[in-house]
Amino acid sequence: MDSKKLIIGISSCLLGEKVRYDGQSKRDDILINKLHHDFILLSICPEVEIGMPVPRERLNLIGSSDNLKMIADETGKDWSDEMREFSKMRILQSDFKNISGLILKSKSPSCGIKTVKVLNNSELISQNGTGLFAEVAMKSYPTLPIIEAQELHNDDVYTDFICRVENFTM
Ligand code: SF4
Repeated sequence: MDSKKLIIGISSCLLGEKVRYDGQSKRDDILINKLHHDFILLSICPEVEIGMPVPRERLNLIGSSDNLKMIADETGKDWSDEMREFSKMRILQSDFKNISGLILKSKSPSCGIKTVKVLNNSELISQNGTGLFAEVAMKSYPTLPIIEAQELHNDDVYTDFICRVENFTM
């Protein structure tokens, strides 16, 4: 490992790890190929790290923006408190505290940033929810560069993000 390289945290499924609820990955080849020469990529999957199996039932965000719950699709298990508590603990671990940026998977009830469907009584009430892990990370480290991977496919956005990563101090 090159100790001079900065570390970027990244959703594990974007790295090609088969950790999604359906047992698949969402490897982002374009992005990973750009990043991996210059940065150390720290793989983070909040759902697997909290102990959920692969595959697993789909999770939904349910409620309103000020009272979002993470509910499993089939069993109805409420993961909200566990995921929030896990996230608060995870972001204090030393590997996370060494990151200079965080790249997350869109639309995920854990990782998404303002791209997650929110339901209420099975009705879609918003497509702009934020996943519970992402929310904790953003609130806890307001100056940490945090972005969804899909945004980085725009060259200007990528350049700006990398600049912010290189200038970030915790
Ligand atoms: S989006 Fe996040 S929680 Fe879902 S599989 Fe990818 S890393 Fe895990």
